[in-house]
Amino acid sequence: MISRDHPRYHSLMQREKITDAWRKGILADSGMIAHGRGEAFDYLLGEETTEPARKAIKAAAAALILAENPVISVNGNTAALVPAEVVELAGEIGGKIEINLFHRTEKRVKLIEEVLREHGASEVLGTGKLMHIDGIMSPRATASPDGIYSADTVLVPLEDGDRTEILRKSGKTVITVDLNPLSRTSRMASISITDNIVRAVPALIDTVRELRDAPREELEGILRKFDNTENLRETIKLLDIRRYNPEIESSQE
Ligand code: ATP
Ligand code: MG
Repeated sequence: MISRDHPRYHSLMQREKITDAWRKGILADSGMIAHGRGEAFDYLLGEETTEPARKAIKAAAAALILAENPVISVNGNTAALVPAEVVELAGEIGGKIEINLFHRTEKRVKLIEEVLREHGASEVLGTGKLMHIDGIMSPRATASPDGIYSADTVLVPLEDGDRTEILRKSGKTVITVDLNPLSRTSRMASISITDNIVRAVPALIDTVRELRDAPREELEGILRKFDNTENLRETIKLLDIRRYNPEIESSQE
């Protein structure tokens, strides 16, 4: 049992969810390593939703509301940390949920489908036959015909850089959640949310609710004004570790 007043409570709870999911076979070994990398960036960003992340969440909410056919992609880490929130967000945007695994096994797909259904999902795509986006015969290009394959906007948390690039090249609006603002995924996406998925998805749900009844022009304006490269630049500035210890001096100063 982790005590609620432990200073690392939230971080330890996430670790417990991740290791539980790994023990159950929901998460591949590499999923635990990916979580560790995420933790390090989260620590440096102060374990809170930053201003640039807030901007990206607003743009992402606008894109998801404007989308004709939005799809949320779920992998092991997402299923381990925010299964209920993903189902709720899909409901809010009238979107579909698709399981997408790089280390795909039928068993893991089944387990993740069960987790999503336990949390209220009525339809889960990506469990049957898959197609290859733009005919690219790579496991990074697979998508369900009624889901990501035909989607105009996709939310792909913790996605791989190559797959993000394939999705982007196929003309889709690609929204990612990735704590590493330097990753290829963050750079390739249309909208990168540099925040922990445990904060980003609930914030997306709230923002979609706030913006849902806004006029179309306002939502289009939010999207037009959003510049992903500039937003990542602002986030990277926040990674300056000297703000935690002003006594650490930069060698350039
Ligand atoms: P890329 O291929 O985009 O360069 P990568 O190979 O460095 O990325 P992957 O292992 O493919 O990274 O993906 C894991 C990514 O997910 C990492 O960038 C990590 O920071 C991020 N990540 C891990 N856990 C979380 C989390 N809870 N919330 C948000 N992002 C996370
Ligand atoms: Mg990668």
